[in-house]
Amino acid sequence: MTALQLLLKNVRVYGAEAWSRCDLRIAGGRVAELAPSLLPLPAETVLSASTCILVPGFVDVHVHLREPGFLYKETIASGTAAGARGGYAALGAMPNLEPPPDSPAHLAVEEAAIAKDACIAVYPYGCLSEGRRGERLAELEALAPRVLAFSDDGSGLQSDALMREAMRRARALGKIVAAHCEDESLLDGGYIHAGAYARAHGHRGISSESEWRQIARDLALVRETGAAYHVCHISTKESVALIRRAKAEGLDVSCETGPHYLVLCDEDLQEDGRFKMNPPLRSAADREALLAGLLDGTIDMIATDHAPHTAAEKSRGLAGSAMGVVGLETAFAVLYTHLVRPGLLPLSRLVELMHTNPARRFGIHVPAEDLALWELALPYAVDAAEFRSMGKSTPFLGERVYGRCLLNLCGGRAVWQDEALFALRKG
Ligand SMILES: [Zn+2]
Repeated sequence: MTALQLLLKNVRVYGAEAWSRCDLRIAGGRVAELAPSLLPLPAETVLSASTCILVPGFVDVHVHLREPGFLYKETIASGTAAGARGGYAALGAMPNLEPPPDSPAHLAVEEAAIAKDACIAVYPYGCLSEGRRGERLAELEALAPRVLAFSDDGSGLQSDALMREAMRRARALGKIVAAHCEDESLLDGGYIHAGAYARAHGHRGISSESEWRQIARDLALVRETGAAYHVCHISTKESVALIRRAKAEGLDVSCETGPHYLVLCDEDLQEDGRFKMNPPLRSAADREALLAGLLDGTIDMIATDHAPHTAAEKSRGLAGSAMGVVGLETAFAVLYTHLVRPGLLPLSRLVELMHTNPARRFGIHVPAEDLALWELALPYAVDAAEFRSMGKSTPFLGERVYGRCLLNLCGGRAVWQDEALFALRKG
């Protein structure tokens, strides 16, 4: 990328939980100066940036980077490049890998790949159970100092006794248990939401109960053990209600949901693998409940569940395709377009959901110099060919959105720079 020497005039800057208008000088990969009015230096490119915002680098605590083990789907290099383009500074990498990070030796394989290839910060999760098989717990004590939290994401931990023991030990270690909640006894071969679309088109459904039943089980165990507990990708109205009550009760509970659950529902389904993920797109009533939960603080954060697969794996329709869609490069634009622009969610609240809250809950330090510049006024169509992720399957394909990351400054360098948009703004 070309060396940056820029003066941006009249940018909206988010800092100390408030917005202000500033001029911004960027030199190399850093913000060199920020003041109400700056004069250009010789050889500096000056851009009018009144439709741009400068916000802290986002934090996504739920992504699948596929390395080690599944490099044909995504790598640390391509996944973090996608995160950089999406304005992220830090990612939490889920442990459904090969080898899965269930011991220090297995974790070391993932750590080496991160050290070698990550262009933004990556924090690995440790497995809850050995091999994520749900039979014996992983080496939690040995893993604890080196992992973000513990999770068996990809599947739910079915054994009540094992979850109780995991929560006791995680609590003693000061670590969060981040649960993918899915009661397998209630699955019955489903692959999309058990609702109107599944019934009308003869598909096998995944009941809402398979999610909320296991959340209810876990909340009872949190009450018993005092563990710090985080629910991954909640998708149902019952889940929102359960977590709202648990918080009112004072339990140490948090949760996330994904952009697709907030702006899509099973009425939007098409016979195409890019609409297939787990949990599935639920009903319109579920989507409304998630939005209410976002607004009243029941839902703490947005996580994309970025889950890349190959084109072939996603080409087999709703029944046959792999579960999971990519999300890092569309999350902010989709939420800005569908929630912030229509006035449903304040922009500052979206920054809290994508930066402040996940960083605080998971103890992730994002350096103050990690900042991203976004252009908000020029609409564009989501084009998977532009993705830096190896995964191209998104339910937002072709959608007209606002919010494009112009520049992502992370660790003292520009990890993403939208050359085309820069050229346009200079002209
Ligand atoms: Zn999951």
